[in-house]
Amino acid sequence: MNTQPAFAILGGGIAGLTTAIALQRIGIRATLFEAAPDVKPVGAGLALAANAIQAFQRLGMADRVIASGRQLDAFSILDEWGKAITRSDSRAISQRYGVNNFAIHRAELHRVLLESIDSDIVQTGKRAVRIVQEPDSVTIFFDDETSYQTPYLLVADGIHSLIRQQLVPKSVPRYAGYTCWRAVVRQPGSILHEATETWGSRGRVGIVPLANEQVYWFACVNAPAQHKPMRQLTPYDLADRFKHYHAPIPELLAQTPGENLLWNDIIDLKPLSRYAFGRVLLLGDAAHATTPNMGQGACQAIEDAVVLADELARGQLVEEAFAGFERRRLARTHYITTTSRRIGQVAQITNPLFTMLRNGLFRRLPDRINERQLEQLYQVNF
Ligand SMILES: Cc1cc2nc3c(=O)[nH]c(=O)nc-3n(C[C@H](O)[C@H](O)[C@H](O)COP(=O)(O)OP(=O)(O)OC[C@H]3O[C@@H](n4cnc5c(N)ncnc54)[C@H](O)[C@@H]3O)c2cc1C
Repeated sequence: MNTQPAFAILGGGIAGLTTAIALQRIGIRATLFEAAPDVKPVGAGLALAANAIQAFQRLGMADRVIASGRQLDAFSILDEWGKAITRSDSRAISQRYGVNNFAIHRAELHRVLLESIDSDIVQTGKRAVRIVQEPDSVTIFFDDETSYQTPYLLVADGIHSLIRQQLVPKSVPRYAGYTCWRAVVRQPGSILHEATETWGSRGRVGIVPLANEQVYWFACVNAPAQHKPMRQLTPYDLADRFKHYHAPIPELLAQTPGENLLWNDIIDLKPLSRYAFGRVLLLGDAAHATTPNMGQGACQAIEDAVVLADELARGQLVEEAFAGFERRRLARTHYITTTSRRIGQVAQITNPLFTMLRNGLFRRLPDRINERQLEQLYQVNF
C-alpha cells in the first residue's frame, strides 16, 4: 500500500485534471486515479464562459486554452423561424473584465489540460468503488482489488460518483425531463459567427461555432427517461424532426456522420448541503452537477480547482481549507444548478400557445436583465 503524495484525486475529467494543475502550481503533487483505460473526453463541444477563462488566467494557462478555441461575442435565442427572441452581446461586459465567452472542442481542452500536468501522476484503469476514512488517512478501494492510502482525497469522478453516493446515499442524479443529442461537424455552407439556441414546438437546437471551421450542435427533446425510441434516432431522423426549423438546422443535422452523434438524457444533482467530509472533498460534477442550460458545469469545475488551491495556499490545516472551499462554493454552485434547471423548463416548453406567450414575454425583457445575469457569472470570488 502506498502512502505518498499527500493528495489523491479520483477522476481525470475537467475537474480532476484542472485540480491537479492548480495543486501543482502551489507545489502540491497529487496522484490522479482514472477509471477509464485512457484519460480522454466524452462529449462534443463546450462553451466556456468568461468566468472559466478568468480561472484559467489564475492558473497561468488562459492563453493556451484560448489559442485552441474560439471567442463568442454574442448569444441569441431564436424562434423556429429564425426570428430573435433575445440577444446578449457580451463584448461590453467582457471589456470591463478583460475576458470573453468562449467555445472549444472538448478534445482540445483535454489536450491542453493533459499537457499541463506531469503525466506520471496519472494512473488509468483504476475505478474506485469505496473508501474508508480513518482519523489520519483515507483508503481507496479499487475494482481491481487493490487499495491506496492517502492523507487527503479529492473526489472528481463525475455525476455518477460512487464515493459521493457512499457519503450521501440520497444523492442520486435526477432526470430533467428531456434528452439530448450532440455532435461536432464542419461548418455548413454559410459560415456561422454567433452562438444560437432555437426554441420551438419540436424541441430546442443549439449551434456553437468552434475553431478550425467546425461547429458544435445539440438538440434537446422532451421524452421519458432512457426512452428506447430516442436512443435509436439517427442524424437523418433528427433532421426530419426539425425540418421546419430555420436554416441551417436541418442541413446541419442531416450532414452529421452517425458515428459523431452522442446521445444522453439530461440529468443533474439536487444541491448538496456540504462538499467537505473531513479528509475528503467533493469537486466538479461529483459535487454539483448541473443541467447544461447555462453552459456552466465545466466552468464551475474549473472555478473549484482555483478556489481549492487558494484555500490550501493559505497554510491552514487541510480540513480547514476544505471547509473554506465549501463556504465559498455552496451558494454559487446552488444558484447555478437551480437557475439552470429553471431555464431548461422554460426552454423546453413546446405547446405552441405557451411558446408564443413565452417568446413574446422574453422579447419584451430589457437587455439589462440578461446583462445582469452575465455579470453575476463573471464576478467570481477567487
Ligand atoms: C449535453 C451537455 C452539454 C454540456 N455543455 C457544457 C458547456 O457548454 N459548458 C460547460 O461548462 N459545461 C457543460 N456541460 C457540463 C460538463 O460537461 C461537466 O460539468 C464537466 O464535464 C464535469 O467535469 P467532471 O470532471 O466533474 O466530471 P466528468 O467529466 O464526468 O469526469 C469524471 C471522470 O471520472 C472518471 N471516473 C468515474 N467514476 C470513477 C471512479 N469510480 N474511479 C475513478 N475514476 C472515475 C470518469 O471516467 C471521468 O473521466 C455539459 C454537459 C452535458 C451533459
